[in-house]
Amino acid sequence: MIFLQKEDNFNDWYIEIVEKANLSDKRYPVKGMNVWTPYGWKIMRGIDTYIRQELDATGHDEVCFPLLIPETEFKKEKDHIKGFDSEVYWVTHAGLNELDVRLVIRPTSETAMYPMFSLWIRSHQDLPLKVYQIVNTFRYETKQTRAFIRVREIHFFESHTCHATVEDAQCQIDEDVEILAKIAKRLCLPYSLLVRTEWDKFPGAYYTVGIDTVMPNGKTLQIGSIHHYRTNFSEPYNITFEDDDGEHKFVHQTTYGMSERLLGAVIGVHSDDAGLIMPPDIAPFQVVIIPILSKTNSDLVMEASNMLFKTLTDAGLRVKLDDRDARPGSKYYDWEIKGVPLRLELGGRDIENGVVTFARRDNSEKGTIDITTVSDGVRLLLDVISQSMYDKAKQIQQSHIQEIDSLNNIPEDKVLKFGWCGCEECGHKFEDNYDMKILGTPYISENYKGKCIICGKSTDKPVYAAHTM
Ligand code: ZN
Repeated sequence: MIFLQKEDNFNDWYIEIVEKANLSDKRYPVKGMNVWTPYGWKIMRGIDTYIRQELDATGHDEVCFPLLIPETEFKKEKDHIKGFDSEVYWVTHAGLNELDVRLVIRPTSETAMYPMFSLWIRSHQDLPLKVYQIVNTFRYETKQTRAFIRVREIHFFESHTCHATVEDAQCQIDEDVEILAKIAKRLCLPYSLLVRTEWDKFPGAYYTVGIDTVMPNGKTLQIGSIHHYRTNFSEPYNITFEDDDGEHKFVHQTTYGMSERLLGAVIGVHSDDAGLIMPPDIAPFQVVIIPILSKTNSDLVMEASNMLFKTLTDAGLRVKLDDRDARPGSKYYDWEIKGVPLRLELGGRDIENGVVTFARRDNSEKGTIDITTVSDGVRLLLDVISQSMYDKAKQIQQSHIQEIDSLNNIPEDKVLKFGWCGCEECGHKFEDNYDMKILGTPYISENYKGKCIICGKSTDKPVYAAHTM
């Protein structure tokens, strides 16, 4: 099998890796609605597990809302419906009867949840309300679809919170940022937090923070977003609470969303021309054991391999023992495509020497681990692999960010950083002339002094712009 080169043709390389690693099957007869294959689904479930862990630990409750939303509820917030009008699917019939009120298949769940929130919340004692769900959402993508990155049925995480004050809602956003840091660390993914422009914020939001990661082709991929709604939704949906002073007030709301794009980013950022490279925390198998058998020692080696498998599994590691009747070389090849972080080889000589031979997937380093402390040795190596995967990804991200102070000779395939006065006219002028998207200003402020690259006005705010995936 010959693989395409990541460096030469990132887009085709990505499609090929997804196919060869068997992460998703796009042959399902609805375009953009792919089938999750067992291996891909295992990885996604691993990511979901960490999301659940972090959300549960911060006092969120998991819920599951209906897929269908009445048109009447969907249209209550006017900006929201404007933003989604062209990309929702409609249910218009029930059997042979046309429905009186059409139903939207959720593109996101604000309009499903908020009519219920208005029933659930009565007094300040019901606040904060913090819920989340992990469900599929549907958006009619008109651009070319691509597994995990641009699909029409999306595996989606969304949290929704209601608070008594605007300050409490702001604290929630800070908590969301901390949760993100923990999840991204598991995925070894660097990212930036950028406050989206007014014309690019979520429909109905007061402000939106985009979570972007840089792909190796220099384009950015938005892997999630956090929104502050203030009372933009609670007013049309009448979500109020009775305050201490007996007064009825509208709640302040936030949401936080991420999707299977997290997996798309993991594939794109970490993998290479030989296949996937899975971060140890989300790898369905962290370790694969390959017995190296000879004519005379196969019983001995198999017995030792089974023991090794049991030791590592008992230590809580996710392990695969590949005892297929095939040559070691072809086994190496298969597990390389699947991206298993650590390969352990066990042969007659290893057993004699009291060691097991390892090979790292992320950098092809080889060595041995003492068999008597093998679980600790493996754990240590997996930590080293995680750290070095993150460092490498961070270095790639930084190499793609370039600060510019003039519009002459704009570099290709870079994320640009430059001064912006903040006015819409300058922003649009840049986006239209250079066919790039302004991603936004840093959520965590950066020390900056410069001039707006369009109008020349002094500014202390940098902005980032890029071609997007
Ligand atoms: Zn300007």
